[in-house]
Amino acid sequence: MTQYDVIVIGGGTSGMMAAIHAGLNGAKVLLLEKNSKLGRKLILTGGGRCNVTNRSPREILIDHIPGNGKFLYSVLDQFDSQDIVDFFQSRDIPLKEEDHGRMFPITDSARTIRDCLINEMRHYAIEVIAGEAVEEVLYNQETASVRGVRTSKATYTAKAVILASGGKAYPRTGSTGDGYKWAKDAGHSLTDFYATEVPLLSNDSFIQDKSLQGISLRDVNVKVLDDNGKTIVAHQMDMIFTHFGYSGPAILRCSGHVNLYLKESQPKVAHLTIDLVPGTSYEELKALAEEQRDKQVDNILRPWLPEKLSRLIQEQVGIQEKMAYKQVNHSIQEALWKQVKAFPLTVYGSQPIEKGFVTGGGINLKEITPQTMESKLTKGLYFCGEIIDINGYTGGYNITAAFATGAVSGQHAAWSSLSS
Ligand SMILES: Cc1cc2nc3c(=O)[nH]c(=O)nc-3n(C[C@H](O)[C@H](O)[C@H](O)COP(=O)(O)OP(=O)(O)OC[C@H]3O[C@@H](n4cnc5c(N)ncnc54)[C@H](O)[C@@H]3O)c2cc1C
Repeated sequence: MTQYDVIVIGGGTSGMMAAIHAGLNGAKVLLLEKNSKLGRKLILTGGGRCNVTNRSPREILIDHIPGNGKFLYSVLDQFDSQDIVDFFQSRDIPLKEEDHGRMFPITDSARTIRDCLINEMRHYAIEVIAGEAVEEVLYNQETASVRGVRTSKATYTAKAVILASGGKAYPRTGSTGDGYKWAKDAGHSLTDFYATEVPLLSNDSFIQDKSLQGISLRDVNVKVLDDNGKTIVAHQMDMIFTHFGYSGPAILRCSGHVNLYLKESQPKVAHLTIDLVPGTSYEELKALAEEQRDKQVDNILRPWLPEKLSRLIQEQVGIQEKMAYKQVNHSIQEALWKQVKAFPLTVYGSQPIEKGFVTGGGINLKEITPQTMESKLTKGLYFCGEIIDINGYTGGYNITAAFATGAVSGQHAAWSSLSS
């Protein structure tokens, strides 16, 4: 039986970075991955181009990790998005910045990033065993410390074990939630799971009759409201009407907030609104329409709304086809602009966690030391990546969290194992 300093479970985004940082700090490292290939989820990110990090300032980065981003302050003090950029650039992988601080390899291929991580593991002589699933993490109950891991084929021992086995989203990439059980075996608690970055489901009449299916809206402002009509969160991006409800970037960003709201709400309905013309105020819209009062309402709305949605809104407020704006009475005009500025949607749920991009919930952060990512309950047990109760928006925020917690857990696992 070979003795290692550090064993990393999971050869995904966070696990590869953890193994490299344990290796570069002098540890003898074993990485175990159940798939035959490493980084299967990583190569799907950023539409296959790998959204390697996000260069936004620290506060914006944290804001875009609505699932407990603040926990990451101590981690980011040690390894942040600039360190991720430097990590790849110094290994001859040039990156480029796109909109909203999103960073990609100039090759536009996620494989460049995965290959770089694999080469780096080779460089630090990290032993990688792929195609071998971990079945159990072994603990010494008397000393509350970690001993090693057992797979279907063998037992491996180490003073430090890093759980980097991912969350539950997109299980076909290998992240099937195996690590939660091993954390529970060590006494850890899990927070409730919920889907994030996932399409939403609706019984709205225009969804049921599929009249708006396939219509996409550019740069609209979607708001999620609480019971008092106050905004919980708002995102201005694109969205699309589907055969089951709503999707597209603005909806995906709102989805985790909607699911959290639905957990508590009775009845299980969330109310959202879309500002269809966010750049123009209610008063300005009214004034612009008044200037064209001889025109048909259809023609006035044409620059702002897709035809089917325009027709639906006019029907909702009682404007007949081909009516000129001047024929519409004042209260109906008001109702029209109210719908345009806050078109109401209802949502009763989302697609399941497995179809979301990111897992909401996970290992309770109160039981993890934020400076080292070590368990507060079991010595030598470390965590990184999506397995912990952290979730961000897509756009490089999760990958940043995974790389950063990976680097920090790898470094501290190595130090602690080598010094004990
Ligand atoms: C389609 C898609 C697109 C995305 N796009 C973005 C994006 O643009 N920006 C962004 O920030 N985030 C994005 N994400 C989220 C991001 O990819 C993840 O948050 C991140 O990769 C999580 O890293 P991780 O290391 O925790 O888990 P993973 O990368 O999932 O790695 C976990 C690894 O552990 C292995 N494993 C599991 N169980 C075992 C076991 N029993 N034994 C051995 N190995 C095991 C798995 O096979 C897997 O390889 C996207 C996710 C998806 C699904």
